[in-house]
Amino acid sequence: MVIQVHGYAAQQAKAGLAPYSFERREPGPFDVAIDISYCGICHTDIHQVGDEWGGSTFPMVPGHEITGIVSQVGPKVTRYKVGDRVGVGCFVNSCRKCEPCRKNLEQYCVEGMTTTYNGIERDGKTRTQGGYSNKIVVDENYVLKIPGNLPLDKTAPLLCAGITLYSPLVHWKAGPGKKVAIIGLGGIGHMGVKIAHALGAEVTVLSHSLKKQEDGKKLGANYFYATSDPKTFEKLKGYFDLIINTVSAELDWNQYLELLALDGVMVVVGIPEKQTPVGSFSLVAGRRSLAGSLIGGIKETQEMLDFCSKNNITSEVELVPIQRVNEAYKRVVNSDVRYRFVIDIKSIEQKESH
Ligand code: NAP
Ligand code: ZN
Ligand code: ZN
Repeated sequence: MVIQVHGYAAQQAKAGLAPYSFERREPGPFDVAIDISYCGICHTDIHQVGDEWGGSTFPMVPGHEITGIVSQVGPKVTRYKVGDRVGVGCFVNSCRKCEPCRKNLEQYCVEGMTTTYNGIERDGKTRTQGGYSNKIVVDENYVLKIPGNLPLDKTAPLLCAGITLYSPLVHWKAGPGKKVAIIGLGGIGHMGVKIAHALGAEVTVLSHSLKKQEDGKKLGANYFYATSDPKTFEKLKGYFDLIINTVSAELDWNQYLELLALDGVMVVVGIPEKQTPVGSFSLVAGRRSLAGSLIGGIKETQEMLDFCSKNNITSEVELVPIQRVNEAYKRVVNSDVRYRFVIDIKSIEQKESH
């Protein structure tokens, strides 16, 4: 029997989200059915709903920061049982055969990962729909265990925001003695501050104003600078070993590359709509590198959840009922969220489906 699901969808680009009912597959042998409790609002949802990157398909139920409780398991499932606390992040399948997949880096699958929403299942035809809905069915290999001490609401954002920062911080060895800057103190940026601090790095926030300074320090930042002040760029020239750029809008990357020390790396994780020009001089001076990073694989996402459990790290969240999702989107775009909106899925009422 297919599963009836109620959620919120965008019917076309920039149309806003509204109640929408749809079906999900009956759990197959290796599938886990999950009653969704919470789903974070990632800026990516806003880019996709607005078709800012191109290729969006509608109706679209966004959401890839999902936590919930297992309600049903297929006969061959070994890793989960009914009642388990679980999470689902940005993808729900991959080819499992290519080199990145075999190295637990499914997010770089050569055939392309199956994104949690706005994607196509590996049957080549079924469209995926995300976590702004009350149920989801996912292959057990793409489901995460939520450690017992982490609350489901504040943990939902770790499934994208947490792993998106954990992966590059670990890959580029943020730790004691390393000077790390996080550009943009938003949903993913604030997770970066917490994780980089827990890894033992010196952490600086580069924010467009000093409005969030006090919060930044509480989250674990050692220093906080406003990028609207030109003096910031003079003072910090050649200072950082690692800069992670989380900003969702266009910035002058050259200006930030100048802040790197010898052999420093700037990792781009924010994905603005437009292309950004980079000058050769910004890179050749100081043998600097410009890199990018995309979320993290399933194994590393589990490692991140376990790291956060050990270090008591969760997201700073503002819970919203799903009926306020369009308003929440506007506030995210205006950088007016402290620091992640999380949808309380209980607010999806049956009546909205008729
Ligand atoms: P967010 O909560 O909106 O945070 C973005 C932050 O960027 C804002 O809080 C703001 O920080 C800064 N910002 C926004 N507009 C700006 C502007 N015009 N000029 C300067 N700074 C500005 O968004 P998010 O959910 O953290 O996502 C950030 C970006 O990462 C998005 O583009 C998203 O698609 C992308 N993303 C990428 C991955 C990946 O795997 N690579 C994963 C998740 C998300 P301040 O107020 O501190 O300046
Ligand atoms: Zn995301
Ligand atoms: Zn693959």
